[in-house]
Amino acid sequence: MRIKADLHVHTTYSKDSVITPKELVYYAKQKGLNAVAVTDHNYLEGAYEIAKKTDFLIIPGVEVSSSDGHIVALNVKELIPRGFSAAETVELIHRAGGVAIACHPHVYFKGCLRDKVCSSFDAIEVINARAFPFNNSVKKAEETAQRLGLSKVAGTDAHYGPQIGYAYTIIETLEPTVEAIAKAIVEGKCQAFGQAIPAIVNIKDQYTRLKYRLKK
Ligand SMILES: [Zn+2]
Ligand SMILES: [Zn+2]
Repeated sequence: MRIKADLHVHTTYSKDSVITPKELVYYAKQKGLNAVAVTDHNYLEGAYEIAKKTDFLIIPGVEVSSSDGHIVALNVKELIPRGFSAAETVELIHRAGGVAIACHPHVYFKGCLRDKVCSSFDAIEVINARAFPFNNSVKKAEETAQRLGLSKVAGTDAHYGPQIGYAYTIIETLEPTVEAIAKAIVEGKCQAFGQAIPAIVNIKDQYTRLKYRLKK
């Protein structure tokens, strides 16, 4: 079966996102997704909390701040500590039974890995819908994926509900479970699709997040 999943979304468990658990499921369904990965910054428990409270398929994950840049870990049962090198972080993710994804490896303004992406990663996020400059970041990430022979995935890095689903990964899997999805990604049974989030949506995002911060 085919699973359509946004593999990189932040919720209110990340301090910089305004996506509540309810909005997460609402927008994921509205965009026709079958699954969504919750990848809050250095925080894992929220993903499991959300998964417990909904029938929608939630892939638990965490975006780890390694000393070399951000790394998304999917299907880990324990929090991966921040501050280790990229290679060390990938090893910790594998020991925790997870999938290591080099997210937004070539963008400006973000903790990106650039030449620290190595063949021990399982996948590269070739499309990150919030990446800037978008086309150039996709091209460079595609080249790195080819060179290292890594699986290609896509996600939005959404911090605002309407951003969800502009990029997604199609995963060929035997069953709709987190384990099967994780295995399929490692085996390369996945394809990345998507586009840059339209500017108007990102402007609304900035406005909404500013309002949210002022209210707190
Ligand atoms: Zn990041
Ligand atoms: Zn992110």
